[in-house]
Amino acid sequence: MKKMHLSAFLIVFFLLPVFVLAQTEPVDLEMIYKIKQFEKSRSQIEDISFWMTDYLGPRLTASQNKARANEFVKNKFEEFGLSNAVIDPVRPFDRGGWDNKKTYVAMTAPYYCAFAATPVAWTGSTKGLIKGEVVLLDFQSLEDLEQYKGKLKGKIVLMPASDTYEPSFEPMASRYTDEELKEITTESMAGRRRFGNFDFEAWRRARELRRAATDFLVDEGAALIVNSSGEFNVPRSNGANYTAGEKEPVPEINLAVEAHGRMQRLIQHDVPVEMEVEVKNVFSKGEFVNNVMAEIPGTDPELKDEVVLIGAHLDSWHGGTGAADNASGCIVMMEAMRILKELGVQPRRTIRIALWGGEEEGLYGSRGYVEKYIRDPRTLDLKPGFDQFDVYFNMDNGSGRYRGIYLQQNEMVRPVFEAWLAPFENLGCSTITIRNTSGTDHLSFDAVGLPAFQFIQDEIEYDRGYHTLMDTYERLVMDDLKQNALITAALVYLAAQRDEKLPAKPYEKPDPDSQRRRMF
Ligand SMILES: [Zn+2]
Repeated sequence: MKKMHLSAFLIVFFLLPVFVLAQTEPVDLEMIYKIKQFEKSRSQIEDISFWMTDYLGPRLTASQNKARANEFVKNKFEEFGLSNAVIDPVRPFDRGGWDNKKTYVAMTAPYYCAFAATPVAWTGSTKGLIKGEVVLLDFQSLEDLEQYKGKLKGKIVLMPASDTYEPSFEPMASRYTDEELKEITTESMAGRRRFGNFDFEAWRRARELRRAATDFLVDEGAALIVNSSGEFNVPRSNGANYTAGEKEPVPEINLAVEAHGRMQRLIQHDVPVEMEVEVKNVFSKGEFVNNVMAEIPGTDPELKDEVVLIGAHLDSWHGGTGAADNASGCIVMMEAMRILKELGVQPRRTIRIALWGGEEEGLYGSRGYVEKYIRDPRTLDLKPGFDQFDVYFNMDNGSGRYRGIYLQQNEMVRPVFEAWLAPFENLGCSTITIRNTSGTDHLSFDAVGLPAFQFIQDEIEYDRGYHTLMDTYERLVMDDLKQNALITAALVYLAAQRDEKLPAKPYEKPDPDSQRRRMF
């Protein structure tokens, strides 16, 4: 053996312990064992799934059914033995409440055929059962609309298809392959291109034209607007821009691409088409965006006021039962809380679950929580909740199993997640990517500089099912939800017990003109 120079020896000797310490993130493997065993033998995922989908039904923000869901979830939290269960109104909801009471849609000429349909939320009712010829509004520009002036009063108007249907050669559901997971971990230096190659300008022009056409139809006194659901095989739910108290918008329905396409082609071939429709909707004013929350209180005298937060959005669109989007996330978070409660954990920090309202209309529930407890959006002053906040974990990518986690650019937290996810490598959940994932409630926390994460999830029928009449119990994969619940429970527990809070990204006071500020 070559003789080592003394100074080199000393450097290695003294640096070694530091190096080893930096690598060591404590992981309570005994607790992870208990959590895994519990979920394998005593899971209630199937049961909770039934209650949250078939039983509760759709949960449109500020609807009567959403109010019923709020009460149900609060009671469930209490049944689980959680503390401080509360329905928490965080923001007024300008659109107000809207509930569909009846939808009947059929083509009656050239022959009879009933169609599945979903009304556009926050649009009005037909004047009872209406029946009449369908007029195809054929337009590429505002000038094209002129020809219809004075001709649409009381008419059923078919909007032209917004997309061309193409058969899909992709599988409905897939799991990430090892190569795909590896690809996800790579970072691009191209900077943030939020929309990739998407032609945002063209999209905006089309949207503006569509809005102008809708205004035109209101002025002309059309009786009903009939839309396609883009490329979707199933009617897709969405909502109109509406402020409570305004005149009710013209009733509007969405059909599947096939039903819409059939009528459009008949009319284009000069075959007269008639429809028979009845839609009944009710509106209400003075509604709020509500979150439903509960806790396992912290026990460490120093840390008990700090919060480890988990959540998902309880609101859904109104067509299906919002199973993948996002009962799945709620089910997983509820089961994670139940596991920890049943195991009798005494966490150092408080573990809180929040099931958000108003996500689909713009992350209103989680933004409202941030406004109320973490940071005033007008003064930008920080509230006590800011310093007490540790970390937020969100789930909102359908029913697919966790395959790893997005760091949301927070490189500092990587060694922690590497250690925490190591025991789940054999469940296929150990990929850590620096990348961001967007579009849901973790962004509300990320926007004010707090650590907030979402998991990498397999895509299970999500692109086809979400927001449609088919987003029901059948979209849920029970074993995947169980896996997600046990991994969530473990990570939440480790976060609650950790000596230090998870490292946040360096905090920058937002520039008043930045996207971040506009978020509020
Ligand atoms: Zn969602």
